[in-house]
Amino acid sequence: MSDVQMVKKDKFVDMVTATAQVDLKLSDFYPRSALVSKVTTVETPRFPVIDYHNHLDSLDPVAVLEVMDACGIEKIVNITMQVGESAFQIMDRFHATDLKRFFTIGWMDWSDLEKSNFVQLTIDRLHQLVERGVIGIKFWKDFGLTLRDQNGGLLRIDDERFVPIFEECGKLKLPVMFHTADPTAFFDPIDANNERYEELAAHPDWGFHGVPVTKRELIEQRNRVITRHPEVQFVGAHCAECSEDLDYLSRQLDALPNLQIDFSARSPELGRQPYSARNFFLKYADRILFGTDLLPTVEMYRLYYRFLETDDEYFEYPSHASRQGRWNIYGLFLPEDVLRKVYRENALKLFPPY
Ligand SMILES: [Zn+2]
Repeated sequence: MSDVQMVKKDKFVDMVTATAQVDLKLSDFYPRSALVSKVTTVETPRFPVIDYHNHLDSLDPVAVLEVMDACGIEKIVNITMQVGESAFQIMDRFHATDLKRFFTIGWMDWSDLEKSNFVQLTIDRLHQLVERGVIGIKFWKDFGLTLRDQNGGLLRIDDERFVPIFEECGKLKLPVMFHTADPTAFFDPIDANNERYEELAAHPDWGFHGVPVTKRELIEQRNRVITRHPEVQFVGAHCAECSEDLDYLSRQLDALPNLQIDFSARSPELGRQPYSARNFFLKYADRILFGTDLLPTVEMYRLYYRFLETDDEYFEYPSHASRQGRWNIYGLFLPEDVLRKVYRENALKLFPPY
């Protein structure tokens, strides 16, 4: 009521201007929605599913297969977080259990970075990984954000010294997955304005406020590598870390024909902007891979199917325990041809021919 001159006290004005300071702890606040809305359980997906982004290193392959059988998961790509001999052991354990349903993406090994022959060492390691059956190599967010060379300088993702590594990926026809940067909120101060405050409080090491490089710069460094190596297929993990700005992500996909994205751990972002997200899935149906980045459980997968297949409204997104933010999501009710591509066909194009 700042612009209106009040002549006397008024009940209505009192009502619409009342606020309160509460001392209920945010962590103890569990509001229950009173909305009466449709709940659809999608027990099995419309088409067999390839989960292109998960981490199974510590899990029992037989138990994972049971979950997969119960909810229509044809294959899982395990992005191992181990390198060297322990990575080989994990790969062997899964591949020996079922070679047709477990696949592995290797983890970029930065050990010996200080050595003058690091690039050749990496090329040799890539060959070993391919011989042992990996179907891709992942560069994690430490590349660009925290990794430093022997002189103490922050490594740039588009560092020209690494050109031969990416060229070798092209020769080996090995897709390269980039998890570059992180959600935008992770680069903001962890304060009362941060919409992912509780998540960052649970994982303070995920906060990158004040780092010497901006999120946008990291994305641009990565995109220069993708442009520089048109012969390599790249996968931008987690919607290439741009799910908060689908216009920007669309411009990148338009400019970079050798980039695909997985939307693992980003159903919360996509599902809170369902109109834009649905249009995005329809337009880029050939470029989007299904991935979850969560412990494989029947409930988790069914929540993903509910998100993609139904028009259910305002429901909890699949998430790790600390959740991403205090919002709910809406289903995208994607048509069959889009589901078929996103669930399975797009990922198959990145698998080696058998
Ligand atoms: Zn992951």
